[in-house]
Amino acid sequence: MKLLDIRDLNVTYNSNNKKILAVNNVSLFIDSGESLGVVGESGSGKSTLAMAVLCLLSKKTSQITGEINFLGNDLIKLTEKELRKIRWTQLSVVFQKSMNALSPVHKISTQLEDIYRSHNKNASKQIIKDRIIKLFDTVNLSERVYDLYPHELSGGMLQRVSIALSLLFEPPLVILDEATTALDVITQGQILNEIKRLEKEMNVTMMTITHDVSVVASSCKRVAVMYAGQLIEFGDVSVVLTQPRHPYTQGLLKSFPTLRGERSNLRGISGSLPDLSLLPQGCVFAPRCEQAKEICYKKRPQLIDLSDNQQTACHLYGGEK
Ligand code: ATP
Ligand code: SF4
Ligand code: MG
Repeated sequence: MKLLDIRDLNVTYNSNNKKILAVNNVSLFIDSGESLGVVGESGSGKSTLAMAVLCLLSKKTSQITGEINFLGNDLIKLTEKELRKIRWTQLSVVFQKSMNALSPVHKISTQLEDIYRSHNKNASKQIIKDRIIKLFDTVNLSERVYDLYPHELSGGMLQRVSIALSLLFEPPLVILDEATTALDVITQGQILNEIKRLEKEMNVTMMTITHDVSVVASSCKRVAVMYAGQLIEFGDVSVVLTQPRHPYTQGLLKSFPTLRGERSNLRGISGSLPDLSLLPQGCVFAPRCEQAKEICYKKRPQLIDLSDNQQTACHLYGGEK
């Protein structure tokens, strides 16, 4: 069953009299229980996509078009009041430094109580505490954390609190935007394992945004590869990460050590992302692509089905000469 179904999504930022097309005609879906990983280099539009789904983009500085269908609603059409009911309860997020949003002068307990009461006004202190301690236990935090101040916790503990918080109302969809990036490898591994376990135990599906393909390989069912605001490859992790078809995905995977830990020559992709306010007419990757042909500079490739489990946007496939 489709939990999230994004159709023809465009997000444009207005910045210094320029229009920056940060998400460009993206269509993708997340099935319930089948978590999605979103990868791509810095500036490819991953966080903008997440902010659009969360409807947290300022209407003053950005325009959004398309559809974001989630549990029977097109989120783009909802009012702020309707969205407030959905955030936390049906859709929540963990950012890289989510806990920075919490006040340093109040205990974790006081702040979590306030968040709980914003959706459940009459809940007693004890009910809230019981719920949160249970969640702390699920993310491997001890009960004593409840009475500490944010500055008394390590980065890993803070991120665990953020993850517990995102699960407060067991929302069907949780977006993790670089949620484990700043942590050491061991803590990141532990938290990812906990997230996988939570997905099984609770009815929650994750959308994991990361630079790190190994995070997607170990924790997601599907993967979306973004480049310059566009979705350039999409499909099952087991297919896309083992048989990438788009030259950008191939380069991205070569930039990481092999997933089995074998030795390989790490090779980045030379060049940089195009200016999103001045996109080329053809394929956005053409200036960096070793396989570019004439058509690539003239016509933008569309995402096509290579199989039931893999879609790619590249003129190497689909018969364009
Ligand atoms: P990273 O991996 O570094 O987090 P990202 O893939 O999340 O990158 P975004 O943060 O979505 O990328 O940014 C996409 C593009 O939109 C970039 O060119 C960025 O400069 C631009 N951008 C992001 N936020 C704004 C904003 N508020 N105003 C103007 N431009 C923005
Ligand atoms: Fe390279 Fe052309 Fe494919 Fe773009 S469409 S990735 S330029 S081969
Ligand atoms: Mg980002």
